[in-house]
Amino acid sequence: MSLRASVTDRGAVLLGRNVACDAFEESKVLRVVTHAHADHMVGLRQSLKACKKVLMTKATKDIIDVMRSPLFLLGGFVETLEYGQSMQFDGEHITFFKADHILGAAQVLVEDFEGKRIVFTGDFRIDGTPILESDVLVIEATYGSPACRRSFGTDVKDLLASLVEKGLKQGAVYVFGYHGKLQEVMQILREAGFDVPFLAPERVFQISKVCENHGMRIGRLMLLTEPENEKILKSNTPCIVFYHMGSKNNVGLNNFRVLISGWEFGSAIRQTDVNEYVVALSDHSDFNGLLEYVRRSKPQYVITDNSRVSNGESLAKEIRKSLGIPAEALPKRDFS
Ligand SMILES: [Zn+2]
Repeated sequence: MSLRASVTDRGAVLLGRNVACDAFEESKVLRVVTHAHADHMVGLRQSLKACKKVLMTKATKDIIDVMRSPLFLLGGFVETLEYGQSMQFDGEHITFFKADHILGAAQVLVEDFEGKRIVFTGDFRIDGTPILESDVLVIEATYGSPACRRSFGTDVKDLLASLVEKGLKQGAVYVFGYHGKLQEVMQILREAGFDVPFLAPERVFQISKVCENHGMRIGRLMLLTEPENEKILKSNTPCIVFYHMGSKNNVGLNNFRVLISGWEFGSAIRQTDVNEYVVALSDHSDFNGLLEYVRRSKPQYVITDNSRVSNGESLAKEIRKSLGIPAEALPKRDFS
C-alpha cells in the first residue's frame, strides 16, 4: 500500500503514478501546488520547465501571480482545477477538494487504475475541511506532537476583536501575520463591525484584493504608500495597519501591536510586552484534529508528512497506537 504514495527528502508528496505535490520530483509528470505558502512551492520553477502540467486552483494561481509576477507561471503549462472538478490522466483521476487553510488551498484525491483512493490533505484546519475517505492517506503533521493540543475553545475571534478595540483607544493598531491569515483577520474584524480605516503595504494590499475577488469580505483597504494615507498614520487616528510578520521588528514599534500566530497552545491571548499581544489564530489542525481526520478518513495506511516539520514520527506513532492503523513518517530523518 505504501508504494502508492510517498514523501521525498525535498518534500514532494507522491501520489499514484504521476502526481508530485508541493515540491519538484523529476520522475513525476504532473505537479500539484496545494496552496501558495512558500514551503509548498518548492522547486516550482523546475516543475514549470519539466512537467507536462502544473495543477492548482484559480485562487492559488492568482496569489502566486501577485507574490512572484504574472509572468512566472507563464513559464509552464498551468491548468487550474476547481474544488470537486476531476481531471483524467494516464488512467488516473485527480480531484481537488477544499482545505480550510488559506484562500485556494486544496486537498488532492488520486484514484488510481485499480480504483484505490490516495489522498493528500495538504495543510488544513479541521473545522471547515471535508473529510475524504481514503485507502492511503498522506496527512500534514505541523502540529503532530501531543504537546500541540489547544486547551482553549473557539472564541478566539471575539477575544481578538476585544483586544483590537482596546488598542484603537490609543490610536493605530498594528496587526502582524502571514499572507492568508492577515486577510482572515481583516474579514473577522469587518464582520465584528470595525469600520475604522484598514491600511496595508503593497504586497499585503494586492493579496487582499485577490481574496476579495474570490469572495472574502474585507471592505475598503488603503495603500500605505499613498501620501494621504500616510497622513492618517502620522495623526495617530484610530486605524488598523496590516503587515507581514517579517516586518514586525521594523514598524509600529511604539504602537499597540497584535501578532497572529498558530504556535500557541496554552492560551488564546498572551501579553508579550507593554503594548504587544500574541493571538492564537491557527490555520492548521492541532494534534487532536489531525487524529480526528485520520479516524474518519478510514485509511488502510497512513503516511505523515515529515519533511516540513519534524512532528511526523510522533503523529505516526499515535495513529498506530490509538487508531490501530499502520502509519509511517516520511521522509525518514537521520537524527545522528
Ligand atoms: Zn500552509
